Amino acid sequence: MIFNNRLPIARFGALEISSDFECGAGVDFRTEQDGTLYVRIPQEPLVPYRPSGQPERVIQMDYTWYFCVALTNRDAADKQVSLLASRDEGTESGAFRDYGVPAFTSLDFQHWDRMSDVRTDTDNARAYLLQLTLPAGHTVYVSNSVPHPYSQGTSWLQDVAAKHGGICHLDTLGPSLEGRHIYVLTIGEGANDRDGRSRVLITSGFHPAEPSTLGVQAIVEHLLAGSPLARRIRKELLVDILLQVNPDGYVHGTGGCNAKGVNMYWDFRRDDSENSPEAVALWDWIRKYPPLVYLDFHCYAHQVFKEVSPYIRPLSDYRSPRSRRLADEISRALVRMCDGRRVTGGLTNGTSTLAHQITEAYDTVTFTKFHFHLKHGQDSIRHTAVEVLEHVARATLDEIAGVGATLTFSRAAKRIGRRARILLSQLRKAIPVS
Ligand SMILES: [Zn+2]
Repeated sequence: MIFNNRLPIARFGALEISSDFECGAGVDFRTEQDGTLYVRIPQEPLVPYRPSGQPERVIQMDYTWYFCVALTNRDAADKQVSLLASRDEGTESGAFRDYGVPAFTSLDFQHWDRMSDVRTDTDNARAYLLQLTLPAGHTVYVSNSVPHPYSQGTSWLQDVAAKHGGICHLDTLGPSLEGRHIYVLTIGEGANDRDGRSRVLITSGFHPAEPSTLGVQAIVEHLLAGSPLARRIRKELLVDILLQVNPDGYVHGTGGCNAKGVNMYWDFRRDDSENSPEAVALWDWIRKYPPLVYLDFHCYAHQVFKEVSPYIRPLSDYRSPRSRRLADEISRALVRMCDGRRVTGGLTNGTSTLAHQITEAYDTVTFTKFHFHLKHGQDSIRHTAVEVLEHVARATLDEIAGVGATLTFSRAAKRIGRRARILLSQLRKAIPVS
């Protein structure tokens, strides 16, 4: 079974609708009695997932509800269109309001503008009611995310590699199930040499509907620019970047799975070349170049009740004091930058996820997810990503330089000092002064 969310053109008078293009998603096109155009947001397969220390269970992911359709106005005059995109077959009415859920339009599939009139049924958007104007003779793309076609990602990576040949190198893993390259961009001075420098692995695009690639592209641009930290990173580390881990998913317009319906984030099958060759290829790369730190980026789109935050796995998952120390240092910085927010518990170290498998095999410091949020805008995703990179890089470079151990020691000394002072003051209170 090849998974596909796309449908060819349907015509309603002078109006055409289609999802049959790269990143397209949406089915069951029809018009309602009042003329509203209806699109069903496709459902994805259920995902088997093993939380750490628990039996496998099957879950319906809530983030994968993604649509992207092309609306064409064949009329000689502009057209007002009311578009209902819903997970459900039926049409709810009357309950729609502005919950702050974003939706976007684009004329060229490169620049996406946030729509002003977006009403949804809840703050998790099971259904969207969108009003838009279609210019005469034009096609407008409409989506509840900012889609990033694989072809665009690929040409962007090739451009970057060509322009910055001295400090980065483009390689391919792969191929994907349908034969597409999975690209890995390695950034570092002399990145052609496979030397012994510590590596940081960064991935995005396990879930194609999430615009996490916006953040990772900003990280690449930052690493290739001239800040003192970027120069130090390039000199002392090698950063391996996989922008779109799941190429076929981008092409088919899936929310989270590959062409065979496998959600490689929750269900990383490193030995299943039949259903998930992308995971097999990525695991081969990791075996060759095990990273010291691994970061995976995701992005909330419609779940406006959620916020930007890292997944923080328990420090007890690490075997060496060095990994524990570095994980602790990075975790503190990320939680601080997110005003104390974090996700902890079973979601952060499920044994079926890639991050868990890398930590288990190589004691790698892993952050299985860091979530951006599209509700804050595309620029905020870029800024947040660079901020995360800086925290991770500083802690990693400190650890490599031996400063990490000193920091931990001084923090422990402070803690002991604080406890001693408290104890002394309690003693003083307990002993009556004559
Ligand atoms: Zn995700």
